[in-house]
Amino acid sequence: MYRSHTNGALRLANVNEEVTLAGWVQKVRDKGFMIWIDLRDRYGITQLIFDEERTDLSVLEDAKKLGREFVVQIKGTVIERQSKNSNIPTGEIEILVSELTILNASKTPPFTIEDETDGGEELRMKYRYLDIRRNPVKNNLIFRSKVTQAVRNYLSSDGFIEVETPYLIKSTPEGARDFVVPSRMNEGQFYALPQSPQTFKQLLMVGGMDKYFQIVKCFRDEDLRADRQPEFTQIDCEMAFIEQEDILNVFEGMTRHLLKEINGVEVGDFPRMTYDDAMKKYGNDKPDIRFGMEFAEMNEVTQHKDFGVFNNAELVVGIAVPGGNSNTRKEIDNIIKWIKRPQVGALGMIYSRCNDDGSFKSSVDKFYDQEDLAKWAEITGAKQGDLVCVLSGDTNKVRAQMSALRMELAERLGLRDPKVFAPLWVIDFPLLELDEETGNYHAMHHPFTSPKPGQLELLATNPGEVKANAYDLVLNGNEIGGGSIRIHDKQIQATMLKHLGFSDEEAKAQFGFLMDAFEYGAPPHGGLAFGLDRLVSILGGQETIRDFIAFPKNNSGRDVMIDAPSPLDDAQLTELSLKLNLNK
Ligand code: ASP
Repeated sequence: MYRSHTNGALRLANVNEEVTLAGWVQKVRDKGFMIWIDLRDRYGITQLIFDEERTDLSVLEDAKKLGREFVVQIKGTVIERQSKNSNIPTGEIEILVSELTILNASKTPPFTIEDETDGGEELRMKYRYLDIRRNPVKNNLIFRSKVTQAVRNYLSSDGFIEVETPYLIKSTPEGARDFVVPSRMNEGQFYALPQSPQTFKQLLMVGGMDKYFQIVKCFRDEDLRADRQPEFTQIDCEMAFIEQEDILNVFEGMTRHLLKEINGVEVGDFPRMTYDDAMKKYGNDKPDIRFGMEFAEMNEVTQHKDFGVFNNAELVVGIAVPGGNSNTRKEIDNIIKWIKRPQVGALGMIYSRCNDDGSFKSSVDKFYDQEDLAKWAEITGAKQGDLVCVLSGDTNKVRAQMSALRMELAERLGLRDPKVFAPLWVIDFPLLELDEETGNYHAMHHPFTSPKPGQLELLATNPGEVKANAYDLVLNGNEIGGGSIRIHDKQIQATMLKHLGFSDEEAKAQFGFLMDAFEYGAPPHGGLAFGLDRLVSILGGQETIRDFIAFPKNNSGRDVMIDAPSPLDDAQLTELSLKLNLNK
């Protein structure tokens, strides 16, 4: 038996018991005649004591050899501590050690294995196994396990079947590039790693599985944006014989259950907002509704004067910043500087102070009188003491800029409280999205998403107008899930692919297997997938998904611990038919 107890288990009630413990040496305090050691494992820390009077000399000698992160096993007696530590559950006792076995020595770790560490990000990633010994990382992994367990229990008890789908497949388009795997046995041919199990889960519906889920790795070769991982985990789900309403209800139920079970938070019915409304009110399809500052469209109350900047703009939009009038001129200049940064890209910002005496003072007093500014306050909902911020320009751009400003100001005002949870459904997404660079339309969700009933005809005439049976679940300004009702008719799927620019041959080559399956009694079906990493990090009250992944990749997609990706040697390249044979 390696241990009778863990290092988090012993209390005053155990005093006088003989125990065996094992773990890592976190700290050694050597007073010469007396040595204290903090022994750590996953469960906590227990203090060990060795002293000249009560401990065998040879044991004391061995204890003096211990360094940080040595792995040891000890036997000893639980005794009451003289000076108690109320910060840890085992703080009232210590172990008077009688036997010490060094199970393994350790080099001095490159950073301190404590809650506050001196190790930088890169170093901690290189030695991730040491980082995992630290409470913040360890607790996040335990938290993640709790969430996945709760998801499994919830879905399983609702009749969902967990099915594994293959990783070595053909491309499933989710809008990113595929990671590919060369096939040794099929020279010059490649598998793609799934961007999601989309087509397989649809085939499971054709197969009659009816309610499927899987906690599954997905792979997307994207240019890495901050806090994106090339491999990430989805809670992937699909159901047959359902309508959009059924899906929203089931997964709203699951999310509500998680919030209750994991966070102890009760939330009511999730609000639903159309994509168009979300863009209009928040400039964003994943609005953070923990706070207000909704957009007000101000063309009518601004374009009647001689102010060219507003008159020439497609959209003039404003928000009321609560208490914002307390900002000094310098602070407002700072906000303006912030929105002019290239990442946000606004040309400037107009503002109007709502003074406590009911008067207004704007940065464009030359053009607008008190009556005008009173209208600005009214339309944005600004009260005395608030600040009205106004941006103008092309609709899409200005909405994006205002959305960034709204989030930034909320952050500065402390309105993005991680303990508050404000979920909502965003529904009625457009089916297609115009790629500004190529001028082509592509599927906003994916090509298997069905248009709203009766909108198929619009595809030919006004493709940008067609709405989809697609929905996202948004939590605190993050998309945590998204899905759609699917096309289950071969002809409609073929039409859809044609509109997306696939020739008949290309469509057949890439998705023939799915369209063929639709000819054998495909039931109506739909589903969604949650981004597990993101969901866990939000429930855990943190922003970075990397902190909830055991072995994450860095911002350049590298695993710096195992040093991947890395080159292959010539023999391997040849075997995979990847080596250019110059003699051929
Ligand atoms: N496969 C989709 C995705 O990865 C989710 C879905 O439509 O169910 O976003």
